[in-house]
Amino acid sequence: MVDDLFKRRAIYFNAFDIYGGSSGLYEYGPIGVRIRENIKKVWRHYFIDYLDSLEIDGSDIAPRIVFEASEHIELFNDPIVICSSCKTPYRADKLLEEYFERNNKKLEADSIKKLNDKEIERLIIENDIRCERCNGKLGNVERFNLMFKTNLGYNGEAYLRPETAQNIFVDFIYLKKSIGFDLPRAIGQIGRAYRNEISPRQELVRMRSFTQMELELFFDPESDQSKFRDKDLSFIYSYQIPFKRVGETEPKIYSLKELLDYKSIPNIYFAFMLYLIDRFLKDIGISNNYRFREVEKEELAHYSGGTVDLEIKTSYGYIECEGTAYRRDFDLKRHSEFSKEDLSVSDGKGRKFIPHVIEPSFGLDRLLFALLENSLVDDGRGWKYLKLNDKIAPYKYVVFPLQKDDRLIEKAKQLYEALFNKDIAVAYSQTGSIGKRYAKFDEIGVPYAITIDYQTLEDNTVTIRDRDTTKQRRVSIEELISKP
Ligand code: ATP
Repeated sequence: MVDDLFKRRAIYFNAFDIYGGSSGLYEYGPIGVRIRENIKKVWRHYFIDYLDSLEIDGSDIAPRIVFEASEHIELFNDPIVICSSCKTPYRADKLLEEYFERNNKKLEADSIKKLNDKEIERLIIENDIRCERCNGKLGNVERFNLMFKTNLGYNGEAYLRPETAQNIFVDFIYLKKSIGFDLPRAIGQIGRAYRNEISPRQELVRMRSFTQMELELFFDPESDQSKFRDKDLSFIYSYQIPFKRVGETEPKIYSLKELLDYKSIPNIYFAFMLYLIDRFLKDIGISNNYRFREVEKEELAHYSGGTVDLEIKTSYGYIECEGTAYRRDFDLKRHSEFSKEDLSVSDGKGRKFIPHVIEPSFGLDRLLFALLENSLVDDGRGWKYLKLNDKIAPYKYVVFPLQKDDRLIEKAKQLYEALFNKDIAVAYSQTGSIGKRYAKFDEIGVPYAITIDYQTLEDNTVTIRDRDTTKQRRVSIEELISKP
């Protein structure tokens, strides 16, 4: 059950609510926007700045040919069943999975991803699974393409992008020629992706318009991978992550070296990405309740030569928040064929090749949802608050005048300005009792509340209250501003 705090504080909410809402579409309120921006900032720190990647901001709409080349027109579809009497559509595999989960058949639920449409159809009939609305019989399993179709101008068939990745593949050679870089090099992008999900439920987990943070790491498959640009990668071998290998029922702690030896992951750059994902996760505040999962062959996307999903525990169970895929040279090869442009590069010794690609692809909304749920703690008195760290919290400080006294208000506003001018994320509040104000800002995850009281007017000191311990300490304003 999703906590009502998220909606009560308008962190996110259903879009177009006054018209009854529209499933799969969500809006973010002021606190949600700030937390999302902070997650993006940490993502950029690891995947753009640390790797010296190039970041782009591409078009959300693309002409049909782009998705013919990427095979989304042909293959980007999900199995659908429609109720024969009330016409309610269901995503067939999810309906079956939920049925098995409800009936505590975990093994069957876990194996759904490997079934083909005929097998799904057979199991729906055998288990007499019916329409959840009217108990009507369900029809045959068919395929439904998830892309939103539109037109560019009067009749230029086009689609909203279902992933941000294609812009990067299409732009690769343009960037390479104009900026002139060597491989390995990564190109990243944060942007909207659109999928016409059949029956979106589970809040931010399945949306029809959502944000991805994607990185495409281009490299020469024949090059030595012990280094990534100027970084010697030997340090990542002993790094450990929770990982569920194919055939195992529970995740275990593996070093990246072990995963490479077992061939659960295809190469060192792939291991390097898992290392960065793990660091990034811990930095935003997720240090348990997650695992990496080796995706089984039958489940792999058509382009993938190996995929590992990052799954985080939520009230909906473990959900995929990121997938790292070895896309090989699939996309560049296809775009080369369809555009008739030569997208190969030279190794500098006369050999020409199409670069291979490793892609860590995060869904920002799922990640935010998982982070919110995993940050929610009970203060022991039945009050819940978000235990967000300084990097992710919507504000680091909130400044309160103890009472509505002009002298306190003036001093509080001066301190607010001083912190603001130091680029610190700071809020200000003077309404309600001090206890209520603490509770209100604890709830949305603000780590520190600063109170200006009558002593402040005498000795220029303030109290700083820690959200997690509720302990207060007194510090001078000078000291606070010099090291905020
Ligand atoms: P699923 O199987 O759950 O539909 P997927 O494997 O199709 O997801 P990818 O194509 O790998 O997802 O997309 C990369 C990331 O984008 C996912 O890990 C997820 O975080 C996010 N994502 C995908 N679809 C959605 C959606 N409908 N709503 C929100 N986030 C999504």
